[in-house]
Amino acid sequence: MPQFTDAYARSFYYLRLSVTDVCNFRCTYCLPNGYKPHGTNNKSFLSLDEIRRVTRAFAAAGTEKVRLTGGEPSMRRDFTEIIAAVRENASIRQIAVTTNGYRMARDVHAWRDAGLTQINVSVDSLDARQFHAITGQDKFAEVMAGIDAAFEAGFEKVKVNSVLMRDLNSHSLDTFLAWIRTRPIQLRFIELMETGEGGDLFRRHHISGEVIRDRLIMQGWQRQLRGRSDGPAQVFRHPDYQAKSG
Ligand code: SF4
Repeated sequence: MPQFTDAYARSFYYLRLSVTDVCNFRCTYCLPNGYKPHGTNNKSFLSLDEIRRVTRAFAAAGTEKVRLTGGEPSMRRDFTEIIAAVRENASIRQIAVTTNGYRMARDVHAWRDAGLTQINVSVDSLDARQFHAITGQDKFAEVMAGIDAAFEAGFEKVKVNSVLMRDLNSHSLDTFLAWIRTRPIQLRFIELMETGEGGDLFRRHHISGEVIRDRLIMQGWQRQLRGRSDGPAQVFRHPDYQAKSG
């Protein structure tokens, strides 16, 4: 089967696969009222066998990287088996997860053994109380323990995503940067998106990515050339830091 390309002859090697829309967090900008099941039919999620078939077909069409997302993908009881099913495809060399980190302390060793190669964790605050206020879950310590467990399990770096919001956590930029100074954590600040029901939140808390970029540059961070795995992010490096920021 030929590689997937679009009308502009761009090739696609990367698949994002949502394995559930369930999440146990209630982030203010995503699920402020918590996850609500759609009716009684749970069959909207791909089964393990369907995931096996889908990723086999994508691998045959040139996919080299699969990102497992949700909702919160680790809410699936068979999440470790899902990783192993994707791993059966030798041509898929990178298997990533985007997670809220809730199950990492318990499961990240098993995920690595099953074939996971990359982790992105959402951490919107380094202050436990503010973390609780933003996510609706008092799980800051568990998420931090999960990141430590990922390093213990052998991951050389962990990517952390943080949505910076004006008058909430945007003043914590320096705290975040101090946190990654000596750790191989690649920190990525994410601009708050305007969603259908989130217009009011957006108007109150949106802070432009350009403001963050200018603050990074003022502190000596230098913009890097965009790599294939950087997606839409602008990546920065600093001589005093192990990891990258973006
Ligand atoms: S952890 Fe992710 S999926 Fe869950 S509510 Fe927060 S942003 Fe949404």
